[in-house]
Amino acid sequence: MTSIKPSALLKGEGLPDFDKVTPNEITENIPRLIKDLNEKLNKLERELDQKLSTKNSLTWEDVMPQLYEIGEKLRWSWGVVSHLNAVCNSSQLREVHSTQQPKIVRFSNQLAQNEIIYKALSNLKEHGRIKNETQIRIIETELITMKNKGIGLGGKEKTLFNSRSERLAELSTTFSNNVLDATKNWSLLLKKHSEIEGLPERALETLAFAAKEAGDKTEEGNDPTASSGPWRVGLDLPRYIPFQTYAKNRLVRERVYRAFVSRASDGKLNNKNIIEEILDLRNKQARQLGYKNWCQISLATKMAENEEAVEILLEELRLAAMPHAKKELIQLRECAKRNGENDSFELSPWDVSFWSEVLRKEEYDLDQEKLRSWFPLDQVLNGLFNLCKRLFEIEVEEASDSVPLWHKDVRFFNVKNLDDQKIASFYLDPFSRPATKRGGAWMDECLCRNKKKGDNIILPVAYLVCNQTPPIADKPSLMSFEEVETLFHEFGHGLQHMLTTVNYPQAAGINNVEWDAVELASQFMENWCLEDQTISEIAIHWKTKESLTESEINKLRLSRTFNSGLATLRQIHFALTDLKLHSQWNKDSSISPDELRRQLAEETTVLDPIPEDQFLCAFSHIFAGGYASGYYSYKWAEVLSSDAFAAFEEAGLSNQEEVRKIGKKYRDSILSLGGSRSPNQVFKQFRGRLPSTKALIRHSGLD
Ligand SMILES: [Zn+2]
Repeated sequence: MTSIKPSALLKGEGLPDFDKVTPNEITENIPRLIKDLNEKLNKLERELDQKLSTKNSLTWEDVMPQLYEIGEKLRWSWGVVSHLNAVCNSSQLREVHSTQQPKIVRFSNQLAQNEIIYKALSNLKEHGRIKNETQIRIIETELITMKNKGIGLGGKEKTLFNSRSERLAELSTTFSNNVLDATKNWSLLLKKHSEIEGLPERALETLAFAAKEAGDKTEEGNDPTASSGPWRVGLDLPRYIPFQTYAKNRLVRERVYRAFVSRASDGKLNNKNIIEEILDLRNKQARQLGYKNWCQISLATKMAENEEAVEILLEELRLAAMPHAKKELIQLRECAKRNGENDSFELSPWDVSFWSEVLRKEEYDLDQEKLRSWFPLDQVLNGLFNLCKRLFEIEVEEASDSVPLWHKDVRFFNVKNLDDQKIASFYLDPFSRPATKRGGAWMDECLCRNKKKGDNIILPVAYLVCNQTPPIADKPSLMSFEEVETLFHEFGHGLQHMLTTVNYPQAAGINNVEWDAVELASQFMENWCLEDQTISEIAIHWKTKESLTESEINKLRLSRTFNSGLATLRQIHFALTDLKLHSQWNKDSSISPDELRRQLAEETTVLDPIPEDQFLCAFSHIFAGGYASGYYSYKWAEVLSSDAFAAFEEAGLSNQEEVRKIGKKYRDSILSLGGSRSPNQVFKQFRGRLPSTKALIRHSGLD
């Protein structure tokens, strides 16, 4: 008899033992997991095959629990590995992660393109005895996802479809490599102080470091420094954005701008033909699947009903933003003249960031760095948890000693109802660790709510990961206001995951929530950062215990809508261009994608794109990411979250009793129902009507 070693990775349930999931453990057990899952899948296939040939109609229990179990085992184990790879990276872990990943991808594809499972799901939908709306939604999502991957096609059509998918994958990799290389290949060496005047110390350090990396020297042959130069500016965002924002030298700003907007648009790294081929192949695939165009495929799984609905929303925002954007442009020009430009000065695209920053300082004089002292992490958490108690009647309690953690800075919290009953938990990994932790902030699922047989319920557990400023010496982690907003944002995603009451994990929390609605719960929380009581509870000086003054709070409030006409218009321009490229443009069109973009720019920009502006050639969101015909989702979800917050404003944010009542309603609908109902239905249950753009227009200062 062979004894099988118990494995921390194959446990497949409960909280992970992070310290036991070592590179060896992963190398040894991921292949075992895949083998085991293949056996389970084969067994399920045999059973379904047999049932399909003997039974007219399948039941939910015939298919779904087994299918879920296979997917969940994979998600649980690989989820732990991916999580550690993101937050505790090491060269060994990275290596085993990339060695094992193709096996995981292969198995996932096998599952997603499984003919028998597709047949079984179709049978369930058409003849099955399905009990409720949630089950119907879950099955429909599975079916449409599989259909859009070409599973319903037969013979030659399928082969053609698959070869197009492969070509598309290849093209999007080339597209993004071209953008990366074009960004990397261009740089400009600056030797004179007049060329870098205005740049803050931190930006100069970055440019001097880049010069050093490139082997540049001072005239005396020394290494570059922030104060002596030389400096090398480039097109990567950490160098490009500060340069455009602060560099006083207009001519250099122009040169850098022209290089930036023409990235990947000529020579060897030209994306123009790639864009046309991608759009053409997507179109052809859409037709194969019975859709008119790619836009319809994208919208088939989203909250937005159709292209027209998206256009209506964007048009409402455009009409509101346009007059403000025009005014903002005039204000920028006046600001430039006030500060030394002559009377005939006209604003060019390379002037916008620079004069915006000057004007912002004139109007608000906000010192973001100084403000940090008022936002120590523990104080912010206190205010956040208290807000959640007021709104959703939950209590958050730290329990970091009770569970295994992956790093000493990580904390663990339980979430309870006011009657002390535990309903969920979350990990919080707040600080930046550049050497071992991926950048950005995110919420991920550790465990999903799942009601098993009897009263056995698995409670949801979330990972909340941020990258904020760590504590230094005697100072606690002092957060920038932006970091506070990020924490509230991720906590909003976490609340939707943790306060779900859906018993089917496939639709619990954020699962099965349409992509354009998923940022509702997160952005909703951001609105609370500046609400009177919340800001008074989170903004207390870590040392002096003084509250932030009313005038500073007001500056924060006002600065939120600064230049928002221009910012809104920019997003609309991108969203509409993305939408129309995927619905109107085809290979036989008489115009190029760039020309189509320029036509749209007439109504969606206030400064015409210059001839070199080949923005599409670097629009990776839609040509190398998942946003094709979905870029509008940013604005769509913002409309929902603003409108949801407006429900509280209408009742009066200081009216505790009303806030509590509406909070309960929000918890019982948006946070509780997750993906079990259509987002329109969920929103209507909360708001009593469908969403409106009014609140976002008001919040953006565009009314
Ligand atoms: Zn988010």
